[in-house]
Amino acid sequence: MRAARFYDRGDIRVEDIDPQPLEFGTARIDVAWCGICGTDLHEYLDGPIFCPACGKPHPISGEDAPVTLGHEFSGVVSEVGEGIDDLAVGDHVVVEPYIIADDVDTGPDSTTYHLSENMNFIGLAGRGGGLSENVVVRRRWIHKISDSVPLDQAALIEPLSVGYHAVERSGLSADGASPAGKTALIGGAGPIGLLTAAVLKALGVRVVMSELSELRRQKALDAGVADVVLNPSEVDVVAEVATLTDGVGADVAFECTSVQVVLDTLMDALRPTGVLVVVSIWGHRSEFDMHKLVMKELDVRGTIGYVNSHPKTIELVESGKIDLSPFITGKIGLDGLVDEGFDTLINRNETAVKILVSPSGNGID
Ligand SMILES: [Zn+2]
Repeated sequence: MRAARFYDRGDIRVEDIDPQPLEFGTARIDVAWCGICGTDLHEYLDGPIFCPACGKPHPISGEDAPVTLGHEFSGVVSEVGEGIDDLAVGDHVVVEPYIIADDVDTGPDSTTYHLSENMNFIGLAGRGGGLSENVVVRRRWIHKISDSVPLDQAALIEPLSVGYHAVERSGLSADGASPAGKTALIGGAGPIGLLTAAVLKALGVRVVMSELSELRRQKALDAGVADVVLNPSEVDVVAEVATLTDGVGADVAFECTSVQVVLDTLMDALRPTGVLVVVSIWGHRSEFDMHKLVMKELDVRGTIGYVNSHPKTIELVESGKIDLSPFITGKIGLDGLVDEGFDTLINRNETAVKILVSPSGNGID
């Protein structure tokens, strides 16, 4: 079967490989669509980061480069291994793409399995990936979805779960204190900022987004996930948020840029006792203004991945509270992965939110 594999920085190859063997407790999924993620671009430009370098196998998967890429995918079950009685050939599914040590509790009550030692991802550190025609996944990480959710939109459930967990970390969630009527400020309208906004809107939160790019601001409005978009090069974001909240400030803020000035702006725009969730991956140290945190008794929280977030995220999509179609901005085949997909996201990233790849070529016009 055909698969896109990471060999080393700047070296991703589409090639023919043997399908993974079907083992006890696993199912084979024919991949319908797989999104290209910022993490994939980082591996290509600056890696290996999550991918295990050649000769340095990942401690859990035991695999090293080359590894198949792709961790944001949807598909259809094509083969069910022994030991599974609640999946059938033809089921539509998405994958929570974790590689987690066998002795970690990954049960429905766990809130920490994503923070366990050596945690990594299918499609980065081994165990196949979504940028291949099929992938074999353990039952634990397979989530069934309704046939009513189009498979292209379903490929965005993984990054949407990142947004869902970020919202959970803020304390505003479907299960938590009533989020309706609260005001959230999001710094950055890239894919994760937009999908976090989509979750907040679905919960009834008023969403204000700050974003330099005109195209991205327009996307946030067109997709209906932001109530107000601000251009920080033209307006004073802190003053605007104060006006919108009768001088109080935002209840929660989400940092989705890893840019220092955005971090400072969000801290200034929060109300006293507000919560700042840092969603972006910071590749450099920040100059954190501790005085701001102290004088407003702010809570600053990190968030990474998701933990038991997929079922609730899927529910938001199945119920129609979140429409993922506006975020799909391109569809390509596996051959176009680097020249079309990566090139667009690296060099013209304002024009794209999520580019989906069809490893089989089905669905490409
Ligand atoms: Zn991703």
